[in-house]
Amino acid sequence: MKNIKDYNLEELKQELINIGEKPFRAEQIFKWIYQEKIKDFDEMTNISLDLRKKLKENYTMCNYNILRKQESKDGTIKYLFDVLDGNAIETVLMSYHHGYSICVSSQIGCKMGCKFCASTGINFVRSLTSGEIVEQILAVEQDTGVRISNVVFMGIGEPLDNYDNVVGAIRIINNQKGLNIGARHISVSTSGLVPKIYKLAEENIQCTLSISLHATNNEKRSSMMPVNKSFPIEELIQACKDYIAKTNRRISFEYALAKDNNDNLDDAKELVKLLKGMLCHVNLIPINKIENGAYSKSSNESIMKFRDFLNDHGIVATIRRELGSDIDAACGQLRRKNLN
Ligand code: SAH
Repeated sequence: MKNIKDYNLEELKQELINIGEKPFRAEQIFKWIYQEKIKDFDEMTNISLDLRKKLKENYTMCNYNILRKQESKDGTIKYLFDVLDGNAIETVLMSYHHGYSICVSSQIGCKMGCKFCASTGINFVRSLTSGEIVEQILAVEQDTGVRISNVVFMGIGEPLDNYDNVVGAIRIINNQKGLNIGARHISVSTSGLVPKIYKLAEENIQCTLSISLHATNNEKRSSMMPVNKSFPIEELIQACKDYIAKTNRRISFEYALAKDNNDNLDDAKELVKLLKGMLCHVNLIPINKIENGAYSKSSNESIMKFRDFLNDHGIVATIRRELGSDIDAACGQLRRKNLN
């Protein structure tokens, strides 16, 4: 059966026309699902019994079961969801003074193989559908009753390796009749799939693009991120410049600081050279050491020196606040958990 949450509004209108219904019903259905956040077709009280029956025969609602829920002392909540085919994914809800942010997964497992990331080393299973991505937000809102205001594609998976479904999900998240979260409150993070960055620039979505950079020369970046061998730094930076020119949006570069690897002032100097003049922001992440990982966290002093160097040389840089590390919910700690 088809998942009704896989369709954006235009597609759902077409689906309804295909089953002999009026397209405006799609807007009513969208409202029930994404604004009223109902879990069952029978709760759609302004839809005739007849149509509800048709909907039930043709579509599922794909409501996730919560397999596990862990709450950090800082209020961060990590969910393990059963995606209904025996697989599980993690999603994290974070609370900030400006509202609630959710970190969603885009794939079951990941192919990228970044050496510092906990999602590496577990088999890639498949990409999530648009509905399976959106469902993470609905399930968390239903469970907690909060209204989520920011969505970051920084959970398990490489969003641009699941391009169509991620863009499809963004259209549902962003649609005023859908979850109605402004594009500027949606961030897509990529390890640097250059052709997809060019493609995203053409989509006319005002979301924020985050680039996982982490190193300033090819040798070092390739040793941390195998994807760099296919798409080296020069090509990546060129794609970013094109993205900025086309969208006029500021790019966020993520740089995870690992002790004695990429955290000294020579690296900072190189970073300034690389990013000088670009409309961008650098997000410094104290690297989280993973099980058997080769990299460990830089000292607070090195991190602050690194940040100050960037700021003193015209690159706006901030240190990302760490949330949820006590429940393995911080950056790079998410994994695909086994059900048993
Ligand atoms: N595949 C995408 C999104 C998932 S990772 C990407 O690579 O961008 C989200 C962010 O967490 C990325 O910037 C990633 O490089 C970073 N990250 C991964 N493992 C980490 C770790 N152990 N410590 C700190 N950040 C990490």
